[in-house]
Amino acid sequence: MYVILSEQERQFRDEVRDDLRAALPLGLAEARRNRVHISRETLTPWHELLARRGWSTPNWPVEHGGAGWSATERFLFEREYAMADAPPLSVFGIYLVGPTLYTFGSQDQRQKYLPGIRSGAHFWCQGYSEPNAGSDLAALRTIARKVDGGWTISGQKTWTTEAHEADFMICLARTNSEVKPQAGLSVFVVDMRSPGLSVRPIETIDFEHSVNEVYLDDVFVPDSDLVGEVDKGWTYAKFLLNHERTNNAQVHQSRREFQGLVEMARERGGLDTDPLFAHRFVEIDVGLSALELTVLRTLTLEYEGASAGGEASILKVEGSVLQQKITALAMDVLGEDAALGPAPDLNGGCRAETAGWIERHLFYRAVTIYGGSNEIQMGIVAKAILQPG
Ligand SMILES: Cc1cc2nc3c(=O)[nH]c(=O)nc-3n(C[C@H](O)[C@H](O)[C@H](O)COP(=O)(O)OP(=O)(O)OC[C@H]3O[C@@H](n4cnc5c(N)ncnc54)[C@H](O)[C@@H]3O)c2cc1C
Repeated sequence: MYVILSEQERQFRDEVRDDLRAALPLGLAEARRNRVHISRETLTPWHELLARRGWSTPNWPVEHGGAGWSATERFLFEREYAMADAPPLSVFGIYLVGPTLYTFGSQDQRQKYLPGIRSGAHFWCQGYSEPNAGSDLAALRTIARKVDGGWTISGQKTWTTEAHEADFMICLARTNSEVKPQAGLSVFVVDMRSPGLSVRPIETIDFEHSVNEVYLDDVFVPDSDLVGEVDKGWTYAKFLLNHERTNNAQVHQSRREFQGLVEMARERGGLDTDPLFAHRFVEIDVGLSALELTVLRTLTLEYEGASAGGEASILKVEGSVLQQKITALAMDVLGEDAALGPAPDLNGGCRAETAGWIERHLFYRAVTIYGGSNEIQMGIVAKAILQPG
C-alpha cells in the first residue's frame, strides 16, 4: 500500500489479519467469494464472534461499544476484513440506526436497542423510500397519527432491504401536513412483528431476494419509540443518510473483487498479450487507489471533526461506478460463459465462481441507484463543493 504506516499500525494490521484468518470459517469465506447468499442464521455466529472481540461496531464511540481506533486503524481493519473474504455484517443497525440512536435517541432507546445491534441479536431495516418518494424523499405519504400512548402508522414503503429478516425498522413518516414537506416528518422505531405490518418480497434481476415492499396498516408504535422530537425527522434522516460517509464507497470490497478478477483473467489468458485489454485493468487499479486514498482522507477528516461537505456523495458516485466497471470487465473476461445467466435452470453447469460474477454484475445495476441515485449525488457535490456559498 502507498500509505506509510507506523510500526504500531503495521503491528495492528498484522494482528487483525492473523486473527481474522484464524477465526473465519472456510465455508463462509468461500460463500462470500462466490456471492452465495449468506442467511441471517449462518451470519449470526460470526457476528457474535466479532462482537466478543469488540469488532462488530468499531465505528461507534467507545462509550457505546466502539473500538476506539484511529482513522487509519479503522481503514486497515476494514481492508483486512474484505481481503479475508469475511462476509459483511448487516449494515443498517451498525452504520445507520446505531449512530442515529446514540446521537438523537433517548437513554431508554439506547439501552433497549444498541446492545442487540452490537451482539447481532437484532437485525434492522430502513423504511424511508416509497413508491412515489425516492429521490424526492420529502414527498413521502406514510402517515403517523397521534393516539393515546403512541402513534398509528399507515402507508407503504418499498425497496426495503432485509425487511424480511429484520426485527425492527427505522421508519420515516409524516406527522404534520400543515407545514412544508420537510418540516412535518418524524422518525420511529417499528417492531416488524407488529399487528398490521406485512412484508412482500421483490425478486431482483439476479434472481435473489434482498428487497421488499412493506405495508403498514394502522401499526401502533408507543411514544417511547419516537426518535428525538416530533417533526424533526428530516434532520435525523439526513444525518442517517450522510452518516456513514465511507461505507457507501465499498472500496475494500471492490479491491478484493478486482484481485479475484485479475486472477481469473490470468487463468483465462489475454492479460499479458492484449494491451487494450490490460489498459482496462490499469484504469480500474488507478481508480481504486485514488478512491482508497480519498476514503482514508475523508475518515481522517471525520475523526478530526472537520468536513468540507459533499464527501459522502463523491465516495458514493466514484465507488459505485468502479463496482460496475469491475463486473462489466468480468463479463468480458468470462466471454461466452457470461451468457449462462443467473437463472437457476441455466447455471447448473456453470462454476460457482462464474455464477457469482454474473449475479454480482446484475445486482450492481442497483449500486448507482440505492443510497440516493448518482444523479442526485452529483447535484449535491455541485452545490457543496463546486459552487459553495
Ligand atoms: C437494490 C435497492 C435497495 C434499496 N434499499 C433501500 C432501503 O433499504 N431502504 C430505503 O428506504 N430505500 C431503499 N432503496 C431505494 C433507493 O434509495 C431509491 O430507489 C433511490 O433513492 C431512487 O429513488 P426512486 O427509485 O424513487 O427513483 P426516482 O427518484 O424516481 O428517480 C428516477 C431517476 O430520475 C433521476 N432523478 C430524480 N430526480 C432527479 C433530479 N432532481 N436531478 C437529476 N436526476 C433526477 C434519478 O437519478 C433516477 O435515475 C433501495 C433501492 C434499490 C434499487
